[in-house]
Amino acid sequence: MQTEYIDLIAPAPGQTCRLQVLRFGAVGAGRKAYIQAALHADEVPAMLTALHLKTLLQELETQGQLFGEIVLVPYANPLGLSQHIHGQHHGRFNLSDGINFNRGFPELSQAVVQQLTSGLGKDVVGTIRAALQAAADALPALTSAQDLKRRLLQLAIDADIVIDLHCDSDAVVHLYGLTPQASQLNQLSAQLGARAVLLATESGDSPFDEACSRPWLDMQRLMPEANIPLACFSTTVELRGEADVSHALAHQDAQALIGFLQTQGFVAGTAPEKKALCEPTPLSGSEPIAAPSAGVIVFHRQSGEAVQAGDAIADIVDPDTGAITTLRCASGGVLYARCSTRWAHAGKRLAKIAGTSLARTGKLLSP
Ligand SMILES: [Zn+2]
Repeated sequence: MQTEYIDLIAPAPGQTCRLQVLRFGAVGAGRKAYIQAALHADEVPAMLTALHLKTLLQELETQGQLFGEIVLVPYANPLGLSQHIHGQHHGRFNLSDGINFNRGFPELSQAVVQQLTSGLGKDVVGTIRAALQAAADALPALTSAQDLKRRLLQLAIDADIVIDLHCDSDAVVHLYGLTPQASQLNQLSAQLGARAVLLATESGDSPFDEACSRPWLDMQRLMPEANIPLACFSTTVELRGEADVSHALAHQDAQALIGFLQTQGFVAGTAPEKKALCEPTPLSGSEPIAAPSAGVIVFHRQSGEAVQAGDAIADIVDPDTGAITTLRCASGGVLYARCSTRWAHAGKRLAKIAGTSLARTGKLLSP
């Protein structure tokens, strides 16, 4: 294992902020898998899983069981790790500008097309990867948060596999990924025991996983004659809810990631035979249940339950009048995530259901 640190633009004089990068296997040669944890810094299950994964990868490396390079960034957002207000940790949004740490990643395909003036040559994938890397290297970064996004993209943009480990508020394991990559997502879903796999070709607002994989889709569209493959499989993995932190779960998830890396040829041996627990569904069919007014949230259903259209999901209780508003889902499917607090402001998203009957448009992810 090689350990390196990347210094980010300092938030203020006297302060340093750095990313730890761990490299396993054949560094800089052959295929590359990139895994990072807790880009939303308050998503702790991902960080513990990354540490268990580090231990497993060290053992496998010692035994000569790794093929290609595996890069692990065990805490991908050191800026967000220090954001506390009145004792509460806030890791989702950068407090200095309000921007979500996992939105607004630069889309590099246009810059790549401009670089490819002399064509793609024989090594189509290698040429595009070099152009993507150059485009990531050239990204402007004035703030620590912009620098963080640029550095993470630089580490991941030439990888064959990108896995971005997050968690939700109160949830079962679920994955996000590109529609044409459903079969690889299914393999990962089976290993992790995921209960929902949400597919889109563009989810809106450019999260990290899509910044790595979608340039290949864009390039296919922009250069239809060039036979460009989808050379980067990328996914966001939500490792349950924010309080689902135990060594047992982290070890189980780390072993599941090793199993997936076996299916992809990065680790020797055969992955355990596991059947996927769910069929992928369109992200556009995911139904957010939102509070129509402020009040106390009383849930009728738990994360992980199957629900039918019309089922009662939660009540909103008005503490002024005692009036109860029961919120029902429009679509059947798996209730895969709930909020973790029990007070709703008007418009708050209380729960999400992976269904198939809706066809939402616009920005499909939570803000
Ligand atoms: Zn997240």
